[in-house]
Parts: sequence; structure tokens; C-alpha cells
Amino acid sequence: MNARGDQARPPTLDWIREQPKAELHVHLLGAMRPATAFELAALHGHPPPCPAPSDWVRTFTTGSLFEFVERFIGLFPLLRTAEDFERVALEAFEDMAADGIAYAEPRVTLTSHLSRGVAIEAISEGLSSAAREAHRKWGIEVGWIVDFPRVLGIETGRLALNLAVEGRRWGVVGFDIAGYEGTSEEDSAFVRLFREARESGLGLTAHAGETGPSEHVRVALEEWRVERIGHGIRAVDDPGLVSFLAERGVPLEVCPSANVALGASPSLAEHPVDQLLRTGVRITLNTDDPSLFGVTLSEEIHRVATTFGWTQEQVSEVIGNGWKGRFGRR
Ligand SMILES: [Zn+2]
Repeated sequence: MNARGDQARPPTLDWIREQPKAELHVHLLGAMRPATAFELAALHGHPPPCPAPSDWVRTFTTGSLFEFVERFIGLFPLLRTAEDFERVALEAFEDMAADGIAYAEPRVTLTSHLSRGVAIEAISEGLSSAAREAHRKWGIEVGWIVDFPRVLGIETGRLALNLAVEGRRWGVVGFDIAGYEGTSEEDSAFVRLFREARESGLGLTAHAGETGPSEHVRVALEEWRVERIGHGIRAVDDPGLVSFLAERGVPLEVCPSANVALGASPSLAEHPVDQLLRTGVRITLNTDDPSLFGVTLSEEIHRVATTFGWTQEQVSEVIGNGWKGRFGRR
């Protein structure tokens, strides 16, 4: 615990763990426990993603972004039944609760499960049951975000949106476009989709400016009119855009460990999160894939705070930004 006099120094990991936190950017499959992945792989007769659970983090953090995405895609076939979805989600919430997370917006790529023959009823039943149980056991609030891989195009996007709108009944609060960032021409095809998503009352976010240029962040904000940006760190290359983000108070869902692991930033010390915070951008910190990168949200916040010398007040501001930026309960 920090006494009042310690507030000018970065807070301890224990102090960060004790703060009720909101996680706005976490993929359900990226929060799956390694041992569970191996059990589900054996259960469904599918090869596990790496030779042993002890190779887990090394497997996902070695190689290119392309290799990471391929390995991530390899996780989809491990979940087949309502019980699988319930188990994976409930274990993720148990880990979050132990880390002081009181609100989470996990992303699920419903279309990628459906294309592998899983029924939407199995997914919605498993996930909503896990969310109810997590609330009963640990008091965690959950709002699901439905995303879809940008490379699969407008048809998959439309199916994802329909599922997200239907999913409002079982706790879906947001809509997101994920994966490799396309060109601006491809991006404009999604304008209508996002307009419909907005009209349906879903919160809107988009993976943009993670590995792609700042222009993608502009497209997401100006054409798709999303309320938050997933990553958005390349906005730092466009001072006008940084001012726009700061003036409008657009939350960036920043995941520094993921960016370093996948080469979007050469190191944590060179990561733009500090510069963006100091120029007034509403920064939230998140894990992206806590299991795959071997990091909890509290550890992520602690790493960033110690690297840049953030005070307890700055860390509190960043944690508060997570709460203010949430789509659920607004
Ligand atoms: Zn992500």
C-alpha cells in the first residue's frame, strides 16, 4: 500500500491488483488456460497448438504476426460444445477476479466458430451461463464484444453484425473489426455496416493503427464513427489525429505487451503509450491475450508504470479511463 507521500512514484503491483479494474480489450481465446486447451484438444481429437503447456507463451510470442495469427486460428476448433465455452470463459473470469478485474468486455469471433459447425445456441448458452456464474461468484460484470476478421470481408461482417444484434439478449454490448488491417478502399466498404451497428445501439470499436498506419485510425473514427479504437498506437505519427483523439476523449485500448511481442513496437521503452498519455489522449491499458502473452492486466499496468515512471495518480487516471470507456451499463 502506498502512503500519501508515495503518490508521486509508480504504485506497487499489489496496489494495482487491489484496484477494481475494467478490461476493455481481451480476446476470449487469448485468455484460455493452457492446460484447458490441451484437455479440449484431447477431448475433440484435435492437435494441441504446441508440444506441451510449458511451451505455451513461447509458442505464441515467437515469430511473425502472421505466425501468431495462424496459431491463434488454431485455437478455434478446441471449443465445440456449450460446456467448452462455459468452461473457458468461467476460468478466464476466475483469473480476472484474482487480478482485481471487476468489469470485462471479452471479444468473441462468433462467425469463426459457426463456420466450424458450432451452433450459435451452444456459444450463447455457454457464454451467458459463464457470465452469470462469474457475477454470482466474484461480482464481475461482463459485456461481450462480437468481432470479425477484416480479411473475411463484408459478408462475414454482416453475419457478425446480425449475431451481435441478436446477442444483445444474452449480453453482447459491442461490435468490432479485427485482424489484419486492410487498405482504405476496402475499409470504406464497411461504412454501411458500421452505420447499421450504430443504429442498433451497439458500442463500436475497431482494431486500427496497431500494425497499420494512422490513416486506418482516421477511417475508423471519421467514416465508421467508432467510439473507441483497438490499439490505435500509430496515431502517434499524425499530430493532428492525436489532437483530435485528445479533444474528443476517444479511448484507445492500448495493449503494450502484445505490441512488443508481435513487433508493433520494438520495446516497451519505445512504445508510444507514454507520449500519447502525456498529450492528453484517453489511454486505457489492456492485455489483448493474457494467456498467450503470459501477462495479467495488473502486471501490464505495473510494467508500463515502472517503465515510464507513472505516478499513482496517472495510473488511477488510466484505470478510471477503462471504467469510463466501457460499453456496458451506460
Ligand atoms: Zn485484439
